[in-house]
Amino acid sequence: NQQSLTMAVDEETGRPVIIIRDQEEKGRITGVQAIKQNIAAAKSVSFILSTSLGPKGADKIIVTPDSEIVISNDGATIMEQMDLEHPIAKLLVDLSKCQDSEIGDGTTGVVVLAGALLDQAESLLDRGIHPIRVADGYDLASQIAVDRVRELSMPMRANCAKDVTPEFKQFLVDAASTALGSKIAQGEKLANVAVDAVLSVADLNRNDADLSLLKVKGKVGGSIEDTSLVDGIVLDKDISHPQMKDVTPDAKLAILTCPFEPPKPKTKYELSISTVEQYRSLAETEQKFFTDMIQRVKDSGANTVICQWGFDDEANSLLMQNDLTAVRWVGGEDIEAVAIATGGRIVSRFEDLTPEKLGTAVEVRQEMYGTTGDHMITIQGKRGYKTVFVRGSNKMVIEEAKRSLHDAMCVVRDLIRAPTLVPGGACAEIAASLRITSVANETDDIEQYALRSFAAALDAIPMALARNSGLQPIEAVAQVKAKQLKELERDPKYKTTLGVDCMARGTNDMAEQRVFETLASKTQQLTLATQVTRMVLKIDDIIGQL
Ligand code: ADP
Repeated sequence: NQQSLTMAVDEETGRPVIIIRDQEEKGRITGVQAIKQNIAAAKSVSFILSTSLGPKGADKIIVTPDSEIVISNDGATIMEQMDLEHPIAKLLVDLSKCQDSEIGDGTTGVVVLAGALLDQAESLLDRGIHPIRVADGYDLASQIAVDRVRELSMPMRANCAKDVTPEFKQFLVDAASTALGSKIAQGEKLANVAVDAVLSVADLNRNDADLSLLKVKGKVGGSIEDTSLVDGIVLDKDISHPQMKDVTPDAKLAILTCPFEPPKPKTKYELSISTVEQYRSLAETEQKFFTDMIQRVKDSGANTVICQWGFDDEANSLLMQNDLTAVRWVGGEDIEAVAIATGGRIVSRFEDLTPEKLGTAVEVRQEMYGTTGDHMITIQGKRGYKTVFVRGSNKMVIEEAKRSLHDAMCVVRDLIRAPTLVPGGACAEIAASLRITSVANETDDIEQYALRSFAAALDAIPMALARNSGLQPIEAVAQVKAKQLKELERDPKYKTTLGVDCMARGTNDMAEQRVFETLASKTQQLTLATQVTRMVLKIDDIIGQL
């Protein structure tokens, strides 16, 4: 059907000739064909993610082009690592990134929903409904869904989070655990760390938390349960000399990117020493360089030196004798973090060191952690930085824990901003699906088809949750639906809490299981997935090679 026929006449014989030309331009696909091809691409991506959804969702191993191995359950991470070529697949990557940056959680769900919406749209196109009608119907359905989800929402307290009651904190931990649930085995402990971390940087008067004050740092060793919240920033280093003080209260930090060593000429040189005197004078000159440098540090008023470079034993013992605490080989990123956390300036020449350029810290402390005798240095700057120090048995576990913590911390921050929860376990999706179906039943124009398809697409979420938990999906979802319908008979606006019992706890009541998600995440998922679907439905021409 992509071929075109043209008639021509052979000039010599006068016979008619039929020329069959392949697609006018190679690589160009138009109309419903184009939409369908795009839908197929989107579906294949969302299918990959659907098995990762929920507390029992599977992880994926992704081998990056430079042979690094990433194990993840987080939608945004999987999508980003997949290195997708197809433009529509890339659109879904952006979708999940967008959910990640705005909300932080729900990145798998949003892609699965978009895939299901497109899957359903495809059958509408097959029945001859125009893509724009489908898109418009979806818009309406999405609005109905958002309204219904809002009805289910549970404001945790009338007047937000001004002071953190144990009850409010428990809600935060519950929501953080739901976000972590599928990703990390020991979710509960990490959820507590995430909540403490966000609360430690929260401004409850403004109902916000500045997550940029939270650093997450990982170190192989110990187990996930050893993850802790540290006051200040953490350097994975030792103090350079065992006889230097372990704790420096009221620290004034010289933050240096210049080495403690005599300047080296840039050209090749040779030094010949033939007498003892010459050697002594050379040693003295060298010594003078060191003493000058240390004097400059002392003169500035510093009692702690953070240096990007190493220094030899000579300089090290001089620093120790001068009662300075020093840390060497502090990498570029860390040194910037020290400067920001302590309000100091990074100094690249000893001559430039002045008292105003020093950083200040309540305390610089070397601590031992774990059982391996490893040290870390904590710098408790005045700016109130905190660090979540993640432990785990290998790098992959730590990286996944860091990503999951990010999700959980975003959830907690969102709840401090707007303390409203909805029940998890796809309770919201099922409720929205039922509401849309009932509206569709009362609609007599063509829109009803799109509404029904949207409702069916929403069911994909509980289905995936059930399937991934080893339940019979159709049966499990039908049961929850029937129960919710019963509630609706009594009250059409019933605040249901029934969802899929993924953890086989014997109840569908998500409030009882304490499985909560944020309202913001759920509504964002609905609107973003609808927007992307709409966008795909409106593309009817693919130009260029795929
Ligand atoms: P996302 O990246 O989209 O957050 P997840 O893999 O974290 O995806 O899965 C989130 C889904 O799992 C949500 O629908 C949430 O309600 C559900 N969920 C999480 N924990 C539970 C649980 N204990 N019981 C039932 N559903 C749960």
